[in-house]
Amino acid sequence: MKISSKKTLKDSSLSRRDFLKGAATAPLLGLVASQSADAAESKLTASISNKAAKIIIVGAGTGGIDAAARLRRAAPKAKITVVAPNGVHLYQSGQVFVAAGLYTQADNRRDTSELIPDGVEWLQDRVTAFDPDNNSVITEKRGKISYDVLVVAMGAEHDFASIEGLKIDDFGRNGIASVYLNDIDSGKVAGGEQVRQWFEQIAQAAQEKEQTILFTIPKGDVKAENATLDILMLGMDILRGKGPGQGPDVSDRVSVTLSVGNDHIIASNAFDSTVRKILQKEKRLQIIFDSHLSRVDPTKKTVTLQGKNGERSLRYDFLHIAPPIKAPDPVASSKLALAEGVRKGFVEVDPVTLQHKRYPNVFALGDVAALPAKSGAATRDMAIVIQDNVANALEGRKLSTRYTGYTAAPFKTRFGREMLIEYDRKGPSPTFPLDPTVPRWIWWEVDLHLLRWVYFDLIMHGML
Ligand SMILES: Cc1cc2nc3c(=O)[nH]c(=O)nc-3n(C[C@H](O)[C@H](O)[C@H](O)COP(=O)(O)OP(=O)(O)OC[C@H]3O[C@@H](n4cnc5c(N)ncnc54)[C@H](O)[C@@H]3O)c2cc1C
Repeated sequence: MKISSKKTLKDSSLSRRDFLKGAATAPLLGLVASQSADAAESKLTASISNKAAKIIIVGAGTGGIDAAARLRRAAPKAKITVVAPNGVHLYQSGQVFVAAGLYTQADNRRDTSELIPDGVEWLQDRVTAFDPDNNSVITEKRGKISYDVLVVAMGAEHDFASIEGLKIDDFGRNGIASVYLNDIDSGKVAGGEQVRQWFEQIAQAAQEKEQTILFTIPKGDVKAENATLDILMLGMDILRGKGPGQGPDVSDRVSVTLSVGNDHIIASNAFDSTVRKILQKEKRLQIIFDSHLSRVDPTKKTVTLQGKNGERSLRYDFLHIAPPIKAPDPVASSKLALAEGVRKGFVEVDPVTLQHKRYPNVFALGDVAALPAKSGAATRDMAIVIQDNVANALEGRKLSTRYTGYTAAPFKTRFGREMLIEYDRKGPSPTFPLDPTVPRWIWWEVDLHLLRWVYFDLIMHGML
């Protein structure tokens, strides 16, 4: 569906009440749909293959389920098997709204069995090794399984263990939290709720005395570029007494440091400078670039930050950590892995076709691909490419559908306002005909009230 009238979307012409009543829902969803096609440069040929091929998809997260639903349609005669251990599927983006006190953990969970498409087999098992020379994977329970086409969608692991002195047990204690903290395999998730309590503890402590808060973003590719920024800015709102709890304003009693591992916060120049301008308005916030967390002493409440110019030590009262990420071990130790560079260990795919560079019957999507974008939005676009290009590969046709590098980071600049950051390899790639650098209430409302439904009921059915 195309945009019929820009006016419909202008803040001035669409009241919040109308929107929530659902009056605008249909056109908005239509716009989201048109964005998929554009962003993936998909011709949406709905490429079909009638080959009775054996397709294995590894992973039942965002990419695995979306790809399974799409391939079920694109290859109607294929035998499709999803291999994944997780009985519960997590909507990970929703963890930020749990931290904000607006969702519960249960809101973000679905049984995986509900999401596996009809006609697709789910093997609740874990892949332990890949043998692409013999077109097979090895699993924990079933052993060797062979395939004609393999789609790897195993996500990325949160590598908290690479931070010296930090143990998973430290989260939720001694002032340490991370909204990212979850266990995809077991469906257990603690990060959102712990950060919600962490906000309360900071607000309480700041009433007694000045508090020092440290946020850290790792170097290299960052999963969900918005998540740390969301927690920082929503936290500042809470400390100003503007969150749901509406406590006293203690914002002048906290000093905040944001340590950023790279020389940028958002990997798109245009959006990076806009985000910096927004952050610069926070008078008690200092940002250190090219500085990543290498060591924590939870007892002494000190950290070591490693930068270009050596190490520096800082003391904190409260610490929020975004994890470095790494490829799951079975991928990293396999012949599918990229051998060198910053994305070493991730699946070495062509950045446009998502086909493996050395094994043409292997594809990858989502966080496990050796590509910079690590978001659900990027993964959804990649699923469109997988749908067409796997069907094309089976039929010996040209892999004509292209991934543009599209990703999105919905930055919650405060309660009730969100900036919809969307870019691809060429630069900003806004879906909607509105200035993308302006935080708007409408993106907040869409994210809070619609996206989770869109995710579970449309994207997870390969319908958007
Ligand atoms: C706090 C937070 C906030 C976020 N916010 C946003 C946001 O606002 N917008 C956005 O677009 N994205 C956001 N994301 C990122 C988004 O959730 C991920 O990028 C997306 O889920 C990646 O999908 P995936 O399929 O690659 O991996 P996942 O969804 O992580 O799934 C990986 C799957 O692989 C399986 N697996 C792992 N190892 C094995 C094995 N050995 N054998 C078989 N299966 C295996 C797992 O069990 C799981 O099923 C956020 C993430 C977090 C944590």
